[in-house]
Amino acid sequence: MKKEAFSRSTDAIYAVYGASGCGRGIMPLARAQLQAAGVAADKLVFVDDASGAAHINGHRLLTYAQFLAEPAAQRYAVLAIANGVVREKLARQCAQDGVQAWSVQAANVVIMDAVELGAGAALSPFVTLTS
Ligand code: UDP
Repeated sequence: MKKEAFSRSTDAIYAVYGASGCGRGIMPLARAQLQAAGVAADKLVFVDDASGAAHINGHRLLTYAQFLAEPAAQRYAVLAIANGVVREKLARQCAQDGVQAWSVQAANVVIMDAVELGAGAALSPFVTLTS
């Protein structure tokens, strides 16, 4: 029992921040990415500042405060909100709270030579980044 509690709190937790259209379009990509990395599906949650359902599309929906309160050694979030002003605000907030920028991309994204991507990029299926 104790051991399980310990291992849970030392795991990382991953968030898709934004549970509306943009976020729901990123979540399946995030899920596939984590699955390929061997991370349990329950370590992936939606975060949204508006109150609402407890679950969306099979994932827990947390407020940002709840996300920070989850037992986890590391927190990652991809900002899946179309409005860039909001993303900038949330990126600052996450950085202040030690929530790390998380890059999510579809399995069929094509990235050509000498492309540099910042942390936190969200790339949908069929995206091609050329040199
Ligand atoms: N949102 C949030 N924190 C903010 C601003 C927005 O969690 O500071 C959430 C908001 O509650 C909504 C989503 O971001 O669920 C934005 O959804 P919207 O349908 O406006 O646009 P989308 O980016 O999904 O296309």
